[in-house]
Amino acid sequence: MFYHTGITHSFNDQRADIVVDGILQTFYFKFSYQPFKDQDGQITGVFCFANDVTELVLSRQRLAASEESARSAIAAARLGTFDKDLVTGEMFWDARCREMFDIAQEKQVSYEDDFLPGLHPADRERVNSHIVNFAFIKALSDGDYDVEYRAIGAGDKKTRWIRSRGKVFFNDDNHPIRFIGTVFEITDIKLADEKSALLSAIIQSSYDAIISINLHGMIESWNKAAERMFGFTSDEIVGQSILKIIPPEKVEEERQILYGLKNDERLEHFETKRLTKDGKLLDISITVSPIKNDADEIIGLSKIARDITDQKLAEMRKNDFITIASHELKTPLTTIKSYVQLLLAKARAADDAFRIDALSRVEKQANKMSVLIQNFLNNAKLLEGKFDLDVERFNMHELLLEVEHYAKILSPTHQIVLKDCDDVSVVADRDKIAQVMENLVSNAVKYSPVNTTIIIGCKKINGQAQISVTDTGIGIDKKDQGKLFDRFYRVENDKLKNVAGFGIGLYLVAEILRFHDSRILVESTANVGSKFYFNLPISMD
Ligand code: ADP
Repeated sequence: MFYHTGITHSFNDQRADIVVDGILQTFYFKFSYQPFKDQDGQITGVFCFANDVTELVLSRQRLAASEESARSAIAAARLGTFDKDLVTGEMFWDARCREMFDIAQEKQVSYEDDFLPGLHPADRERVNSHIVNFAFIKALSDGDYDVEYRAIGAGDKKTRWIRSRGKVFFNDDNHPIRFIGTVFEITDIKLADEKSALLSAIIQSSYDAIISINLHGMIESWNKAAERMFGFTSDEIVGQSILKIIPPEKVEEERQILYGLKNDERLEHFETKRLTKDGKLLDISITVSPIKNDADEIIGLSKIARDITDQKLAEMRKNDFITIASHELKTPLTTIKSYVQLLLAKARAADDAFRIDALSRVEKQANKMSVLIQNFLNNAKLLEGKFDLDVERFNMHELLLEVEHYAKILSPTHQIVLKDCDDVSVVADRDKIAQVMENLVSNAVKYSPVNTTIIIGCKKINGQAQISVTDTGIGIDKKDQGKLFDRFYRVENDKLKNVAGFGIGLYLVAEILRFHDSRILVESTANVGSKFYFNLPISMD
């Protein structure tokens, strides 16, 4: 063919598999067939030139492969790319870059008409100046470009946070000639950053100390209020053990808290003591809750602490005052009661209706006062740690008859009924169980409409005596039921605003029963009624 036409033919990158040194190998050649002419211009032969271009072809293939893998890496990383020829002014944006600025795929884009107008007005000047006055100046940037900005979608007007990184290429005169780079949407990261900045501002400005520790008890964060409260700065204490602020006698308690939290328990308003940097003891109320990671595993705990030292002091003063006043009132009241009883007996003997009525009222009020005083004194003893039991074996039925009798005198407005009372004996502190019953019955009276019935019960259940007081009164909302037994806790609502009380009756009931290894339980429905009950082991001897 070459022979006849005399036209030179070339073939590029022709593959030839040749056996060299006994191994089949792939080579690439550039073949060129040229006519060989004699003096008359007649073709007498053909020159065949073969250039081995194997290296060239292979490196081209390698380049294509690495371009392809760069392209897939860019796609996988959700990166958009841009490329601006600074000589011609032409600009190329890939599909993802266009998505971020919400610009149609086919539109011809330019720096002035698309990029700059697509920037958030608050960022436009900064970014433009960063590109023109920094990135494009080789001496300043060495061609490196890295900036964050907000883009506003041309079509959807959505604000997207973008991080853009790139490279500027310069000619020999240091003029920028090409600007290429990537864009990456970081809206989620930015929003998360803003959220955590907001949270951290809230934490820093909180009045309560907010501390987080890891599961080894090492402090990981410490806010401003913690600095004020405990005297350690964040720099001093972060990374140190929480034991630095725990007095030795509370170390075991802390261990228990950690243990409980690993079992996902939350601890609210727990009162304890902590040490300040200069060794002062603080009364604090803390709420401890577990911190979990995305996999719902507990990785640490947060503690919110409030300094209640002043509150405690005020409480102590109040208690001291009440205790002293109660002691002072107790003796004269006992005298009043005995004289009233004497006078009442005389009035009854004389059948003097007016005196009987008047003295009965005095006796009733004096009895109410003595229950109150007894409560205050018990409260004081509990606070001072001097509370103890005087245990004896007694017949519960008989005690409840007394309670019923006494309640009938105190509360003629209600029907007091002793019902289903099994004849059981228990070993307990008789006076204190009587106080429990007096408190429960007087509450039942206080929180039920007049003329309703209050039932005192005592049943044998599983070898235990279950003693109960049931009313058909205003009942207690579920949300209040857990707090009823806290000292000074009173339910606050419109129905109760005119009912007087100190909120220590049920606290004492709970404490007295706790000393008996028992506990007070409540079943109650708002506007239906309440049943308070507790168990004591029956004594068989
Ligand atoms: P208080 O002096 O206020 O009666 P207590 O400690 O005896 O204090 O009771 C605490 C609160 O529990 C009361 O303020 C009341 O709201 C509620 N409570 C107690 N007993 C009853 C009951 N039988 N029915 C409805 N509410 C009750």
